[in-house]
Amino acid sequence: MLTVVPTPIGNLEDITLRALRVLREADFVVAEDTRVSGNLLKHFDIKKPLLSFHTANEHKAVEGIVARLQQGQKGALVSDAGTPGISDPGFLLIRACVREGIAVECLPGPTAFVPALVASGLPCDTFTFWGFLPHKKGRQTQLAQIAASEHTVVLYESPHRLLKLLEELKEHCGAERPVCVARELTKLHEEIARGTVAELLAHFSEKAVKGEIVVVVGAAV
Ligand code: SAM
Repeated sequence: MLTVVPTPIGNLEDITLRALRVLREADFVVAEDTRVSGNLLKHFDIKKPLLSFHTANEHKAVEGIVARLQQGQKGALVSDAGTPGISDPGFLLIRACVREGIAVECLPGPTAFVPALVASGLPCDTFTFWGFLPHKKGRQTQLAQIAASEHTVVLYESPHRLLKLLEELKEHCGAERPVCVARELTKLHEEIARGTVAELLAHFSEKAVKGEIVVVVGAAV
């Protein structure tokens, strides 16, 4: 059995009781970065063998992890923060397990895009999650699709690229499109900035942008 275990995106209080139990009961933990997850486990006084599973080794690592699960071992999959598989490694392993008939469950838990979307005040009945936009190839096409979207769009972006993205949104969607930038969710300096693209461009141009960011873009009306 493989259990996908979401971990906090900033606030350790967001770990669930079930996540802690599953981690305690696991025979091994598959981690994006064994150091990061090692620290998390240490914080909760959990000692487990950690197997590395990240974008550079995931194709190679899948086989060994599947073999352990086939022997009946219980594995827990974690990423550095949030839900594995959501803009993080996980999909390849989960797909391999499903193909091999290994039971896979995913615990509900922290992920950055849900609180950003819900707190944005923009319609969240229907939405599209795009994750990180490509830096080059396909970016303009995706921006055009976002501009024409009939429902709310959720994006991940790094702080040093936020202004560029807001400029691009201005160009494609217009200065008046409603947008929300959710920064440092669940952390001490959490900020939920809501306004038009022009207003948020002005706001975030005032000083260097820091921290982790989700951008929520309102639909074309
Ligand atoms: N697996 C994670 C999840 O479930 O949300 C996402 C991992 S992805 C590599 C990291 C990106 O998620 C960050 O660059 C940022 O866009 C977003 N993110 C993660 N933590 C965040 C936070 N505390 N506040 C705002 N955005 C966050």
